[in-house]
Amino acid sequence: MDGHEDREPLTVDGAQGEGGGQVLRSSLALSLVTGRPFHIHRIRARRRKPGLLRQHLTAVRAAAEVSGATVEGDALRSPELRFAPGPVRAGDYGFAVGSAGSTMLVLQTVLWPLLLAPGRSRLTLEGGTHNPMAPPFDFVERCLLPLLHAMGAHVQVELRRAGFYPAGGGELVVEIDGGHPLRPLERLQRGAIAETFARAQVSSLPVSIARRELEVVHARLGWSRQWLKTERVSSLGPGNVLMLELRHDGGTTLVTGFGEKGVSAEEVAVRTVEEAERFIAAGVPVCEHLADQLLVPLALAGGGSFRTMEPSLHTRTNAELVQRWLPVSITLHDEGGGAWRVDVGPR
Ligand code: ATP
Repeated sequence: MDGHEDREPLTVDGAQGEGGGQVLRSSLALSLVTGRPFHIHRIRARRRKPGLLRQHLTAVRAAAEVSGATVEGDALRSPELRFAPGPVRAGDYGFAVGSAGSTMLVLQTVLWPLLLAPGRSRLTLEGGTHNPMAPPFDFVERCLLPLLHAMGAHVQVELRRAGFYPAGGGELVVEIDGGHPLRPLERLQRGAIAETFARAQVSSLPVSIARRELEVVHARLGWSRQWLKTERVSSLGPGNVLMLELRHDGGTTLVTGFGEKGVSAEEVAVRTVEEAERFIAAGVPVCEHLADQLLVPLALAGGGSFRTMEPSLHTRTNAELVQRWLPVSITLHDEGGGAWRVDVGPR
């Protein structure tokens, strides 16, 4: 896709809106897709540790490698970056975050350009696969990918080993058959929630943690015990994740909570259940997180519409940014009762 005649570098303020890593990742992805260079300053200025951390630096290096880009400022904690991409090349790539930083966010950077570039790509990603504040592997596999398939994308993911914060050490493989144009997507109706499942996973921690979490799910949501599963997974270090899966006409929604030191299993489960309750009450098919992640693919497809919950600052920030990069308009409309409609279309 090539919406910009203009090859002047785009200047991006990394502090805009959310002021986090997504401003950088979306810019890298859209720079690769459009071929337009950019200069970003005040990278992640609103975060406690601003600048490029390992996960962001890995995303920059990945974007550079798939396109033979010229890069300045790609150093740890750097607040500024100049990025001039070359043509995106399908291929066999390996990217290791080198910490428990999220591999899913690295994938969020190179997935779109590689989906659009003709040819087969195989990515091996190493680092965190189940991180708080990022899409867990299962979210990408069960929520995002089915929608991308519906849009005409050819992509598969396989988890080889889970990686939790702080040890990391996870690994996944992503197979992409690129060059198929993306089609617009509509997800306006949720309908009834047809099926519900909960999985509580532990790595190197007592399975009783997972059982206690599922007890809360059973008591608060009334989900049948038959569909509640504890799972032991093998990973480099300890970890615990509770995943609530809801299947409906609009697809699959996955609500996730992570075990934390000093927070009881019950508290982790209550927080997660409350997030699921908010989603259920809103009556919409697209959750808050999927909403911000759908904006780039819908813009690349030239359009689409969905109903979601009140847009997060992430979504608003990504919407602003995408409209600077691509000739699309994104509108967020409050329909009342906690439901919002998002429309992406040509400008
Ligand atoms: P920062 O660099 O600012 O510290 P970051 O690089 O980790 O943050 P953010 O800018 O905070 O990234 O973006 C996080 C991404 O992870 C967003 O796309 C958001 O929707 C997604 N995300 C966060 N939590 C979840 C979750 N529980 N389920 C699915 N996706 C999530």
